[in-house]
Amino acid sequence: MSNINNKQIDSLRILMEAELAKLVTKTRDEMNPELKTNYIDIDGDVADDEAVADTIVDTDNAIIGLHLQKARDLNAALDRIQSGVYGVCIDCSDDIGFERLSAYPTAKRCIKCQSLHEKMFASNPTPSM
Ligand SMILES: [Zn+2]
Repeated sequence: MSNINNKQIDSLRILMEAELAKLVTKTRDEMNPELKTNYIDIDGDVADDEAVADTIVDTDNAIIGLHLQKARDLNAALDRIQSGVYGVCIDCSDDIGFERLSAYPTAKRCIKCQSLHEKMFASNPTPSM
């Protein structure tokens, strides 16, 4: 059961769909090999740039990975809207609340369970919302 109404869910859905579309475009640009080549070529010299290129590729992968993770979160949240379980905590089945969902539309847990979850996975630098 969720205490947020369809209108609120709708506004969040539109927000998330727009964000997802933006994210997909951005990630596609980031994965464009032509762009990446230009980026690496800035420092034309081949001496120690294998490491530099590696670093750039690693950084890119990390960013792309983050974006993909975010896209997955958005997709999952949109799926939950479809299945009618959006806004319900996956741990305790309590309402997550519109206030929290406005701040974190992809939130899967209520604040109580989220802080518990973050304590349990404190070593994870990017706990999922
Ligand atoms: Zn909960």
